[in-house]
Amino acid sequence: MKKIVIAIDGHSSCGKSTMAKELAKNIGYVYVDTGAMYRAVTLYAMQHGQFPDTGIQEDALRTDIEAGRVKVSFKFNAETGRPDTYLNGVLVENEIRQMEVSNRVSPIAALPFVRTLLTEQQKAMGREKGIVMDGRDIGTAVFPNAELKIFVTATAEVRAQRRYDELLGKAKTKEEADALRFDEILKNVQERDYIDSHRETAPLRQAPDAIVLDNSHMTREEQNAWLLQRYKEATA
Ligand code: C5P
Repeated sequence: MKKIVIAIDGHSSCGKSTMAKELAKNIGYVYVDTGAMYRAVTLYAMQHGQFPDTGIQEDALRTDIEAGRVKVSFKFNAETGRPDTYLNGVLVENEIRQMEVSNRVSPIAALPFVRTLLTEQQKAMGREKGIVMDGRDIGTAVFPNAELKIFVTATAEVRAQRRYDELLGKAKTKEEADALRFDEILKNVQERDYIDSHRETAPLRQAPDAIVLDNSHMTREEQNAWLLQRYKEATA
């Protein structure tokens, strides 16, 4: 069967990566979570004092990126059946999902030199096709010629609830669980939508040839079945 590129874009926390991962597993494609790449660069900036509360120290981050000091990679984890994210060779899969990173990632992702670096890497990953990539600009900027483009959305409240449940499931202690605030998560989801849609470089947009999926009232199984059907149609 011919191999294609599948681009899945959409708003924050709408279950894009869950459905993208599941599809990739079912059809034997490589899955790439581009949000994890922006999160890893954000973690780098935080670890190096380049993102204090006063704002991003853009020049310091640009220098490190241009010198090749920020390397993001993935390694397949046989236990979870999913790729883990590494920053300069160190496993950061858990750290990049924390709220501190979620709260800072969109301003970092708006920096043109960050987008140039990561977009180039993403294009290289898709050269052989047989890839499912999710993010905000995959069908518009990374793979404008992708054979299948999906744009996923859901109401902000539904998305915040899903993120809350996910973080709750990952909390290791009662303190971590108690620290989670639904209103804070909702605010983060709304703020990221705003910044992602209004930035100058590669803003979040629905590609004209994307198929829209509003999964506010769908179960995980329903959306997986829906996506598999779109894949079958695209490769028929
Ligand atoms: O997908 P996820 O929510 O993990 O993405 C984190 C953030 O990374 C997004 O809110 C967005 O600011 C940025 N992002 C992006 N372009 C992508 C993927 C993610 O700007 N292709």
